Amino acid sequence: MTRPIRVEINHSALRHNYLQSRKQTSGRRALAVIKADAYGHGSLGCAQALADMADGFALLNIEDAIALRQAGIQQDIVLLEGPFDRAEVEAMATYRIGGAIHSPHQIAWLREGSLPGPVEVWLKVNSGMNRLGFRPEQVAATLASLQSLPQVHTSTIMTHFASADDARGVAAQWQAFAPVAAASGLAVSAANSAAVFRHPQTHGDVVRPGITLYGCSPFAEYHGTALGLQTTMTLSADIITIQQLQAGDTVGYGLNFRAEHAMRIGIVACGYADGYPRIAANGTPVMVADQRSATVGRVSMDMLAIDLSHHPAADIGSRVELWGPNVAIEEVAAAAGTIGYELMCAIAPRVPRQLI
Ligand code: PLP
Repeated sequence: MTRPIRVEINHSALRHNYLQSRKQTSGRRALAVIKADAYGHGSLGCAQALADMADGFALLNIEDAIALRQAGIQQDIVLLEGPFDRAEVEAMATYRIGGAIHSPHQIAWLREGSLPGPVEVWLKVNSGMNRLGFRPEQVAATLASLQSLPQVHTSTIMTHFASADDARGVAAQWQAFAPVAAASGLAVSAANSAAVFRHPQTHGDVVRPGITLYGCSPFAEYHGTALGLQTTMTLSADIITIQQLQAGDTVGYGLNFRAEHAMRIGIVACGYADGYPRIAANGTPVMVADQRSATVGRVSMDMLAIDLSHHPAADIGSRVELWGPNVAIEEVAAAAGTIGYELMCAIAPRVPRQLI
């Protein structure tokens, strides 16, 4: 008997979302961002599911990138933070993996000794986020130094938006980036999901959608479905017991839910150690027996409680959708004061992943 919790991953929705994202950009190349284990969806499985349609993949770890190559993925692969040491530069050359170059110490690694083959690099520009990248005024000299290295092929100039759902923030960064990008003569890449959907002037040659591939909206005011996206991840768990509360009874740690009248609650096999946010308030929506209900009391490590007052059909063994097609992940994220990205990435390894 296994603990009744699972996360279901829908690859056909992922494929739909890739096409829906690329449709916004009229023929631009779109690299599917599959870092953080494809936002919790499994990076290798997602790459394989997209292999016949995606122009390439962007991720973080060389190990994950090599795993894609070893599984037969042929498309471009780019490391968004580039190599983390000189050994990774060699692996990039061996496995034909590109990498973002954002700092002089990475250029020193590119310069050191010979490589097993050519290395593709993307020049990363800090256009205002102040996280990674060369400042616009450093771009010309940096590019010249990259172009002087015989085994290095600089294909693309990139930047990343700090707040792509905010038009003013994007305009300021684009103004800083666009002139140096144009002067570089390289392919241009700036747009993440929000820019793909909202800022066509930033589409350049290559876009990099992440969150919209996973059906979730980057905009606070819409859910993914409003952008024509489909749900790729469903977290569900079953009711493992029922409690009949009397008026005045409390539920769970901290006694922060008190029943005003007699009521029936279900205890569900999902807690914060599974990745459900502990901070999600009393009243966070769930779906059970074809009807919505809500959590009561605090989320424990391995369990949470839901109100079954209006769900006479729900019983031990009933499946409870915690997020998925009927409970938008954006709703749960809002109740937890966070974003869908964090919830997807936080699914614990102990939760079995099933393809549907
Ligand atoms: N490009 C870079 C450099 C990123 O770091 C990310 C994710 O954070 C993305 C693209 C994809 O962003 P989003 O998931 O918002 O589309």
